[in-house]
Amino acid sequence: MIINKPVIKKKGKFIFLSSKIEIESDSSLSTEIWYRFPLCQKNFISDRSDAFLVGLFFLGMKINEDITVKGIISPKLLYNLNQVQRYFKNSFPNEFSIIKINCENLKEDLGEKGAIVSSFSGGVDSFYTLLANTKNVPKRDKITHSVFIGGFDLKTDDEYLPQVKKHYEKLLASINVKLLTVDTNLKMYLDEQVSQVRAFGAILTSIFLTLSKNISRVYIASAYQYRDLLPFKGAAAVADGSNPISDHMFSTETTTFVHHDCSISRIDKTKEISKWPITYDSLRVCWRPAGLKNCSECSKCLRTMLTLQLINELEKYDKSFQLPLTKNRMKNWSSGGKDRGFVKEIRSYAKSIGRQDVVLQMNYIIYLKPKLDKLRVLNYFYKQSSNLKNRSKTYKSIIRMMKKNLNLAYN
Ligand SMILES: [Zn+2]
Repeated sequence: MIINKPVIKKKGKFIFLSSKIEIESDSSLSTEIWYRFPLCQKNFISDRSDAFLVGLFFLGMKINEDITVKGIISPKLLYNLNQVQRYFKNSFPNEFSIIKINCENLKEDLGEKGAIVSSFSGGVDSFYTLLANTKNVPKRDKITHSVFIGGFDLKTDDEYLPQVKKHYEKLLASINVKLLTVDTNLKMYLDEQVSQVRAFGAILTSIFLTLSKNISRVYIASAYQYRDLLPFKGAAAVADGSNPISDHMFSTETTTFVHHDCSISRIDKTKEISKWPITYDSLRVCWRPAGLKNCSECSKCLRTMLTLQLINELEKYDKSFQLPLTKNRMKNWSSGGKDRGFVKEIRSYAKSIGRQDVVLQMNYIIYLKPKLDKLRVLNYFYKQSSNLKNRSKTYKSIIRMMKKNLNLAYN
């Protein structure tokens, strides 16, 4: 893979930072990665290649292709990326290869930088990190800017994107935090090649590195607790793309990443942010949001709404969640993978406050619902197969033959 020198260009009301990427083993994957910023952020934009390398090294590991970088790279970052590669290779030996990164221009990332920033999507984690680093903290640690990204949950051409940015700009200004925005095609490009679960931290930190000319520290909001990591029993988030082990290794000499606070549960984070009125009309947690509106039906909405209900704060969020939390909606809640950890956390909290009804509901979601869903899928295939047998003699004879070979009675 060749990462060519970045180019900075002004187009209309925006500045574009881009680089041509050549994939030697499969030219159909060659592309141009770009980041878009409003003109007022020009003093933040870095002309180095650190952001592009961090954004793309997972792809190199996935397709087992060494990388040559034509632009400037931080020696500290280069050293650490080799450590990050080993961490993910160690965790997923069959998914990734260790690759060589050749940099033609190694140069330390030096200079005075003023901003302390946080990642900000409007969700529980990012509001908690914002709250924890703006209230009662020394000035030297206080968040001065937050970054909202277009091209993650909202696509870069989403009709609601400008409206959401405007809303958060005003909201953050009320607590003396400036909003920075970046739109990018990086995630959309990588999603086709590398699982977001693996590359998420790299994609996120890549975006901050594009602004690294004036960022000294970045707080990345944590999603999981330390106890979700090995060696804890039942660890659910081992080697999650963004984690306290690898996030800080994307730092350069003068821009440092901090994976913020894995000591607190999602329920306690929700309790903390619910004390903060600016979150009431502005919480965005949904898998399929329409601007600032959450669907009130997906797993992320349901678990947030239920948590808010258990701590008696749901009413305050009636603009964020416009549909009521009903038993029927809860019944449709399918929870798998890492989401199940949050369901178990809610069950344990419900037990501690004597809400046996919710404990039973969570047991249904954890144990019974997945089995019922499987039966529904089997039933669907059985019905489709019956229809085909009635319509196609060939299909009928194939099934008859298969059953005969398996010694099953045919009907
Ligand atoms: Zn939703």
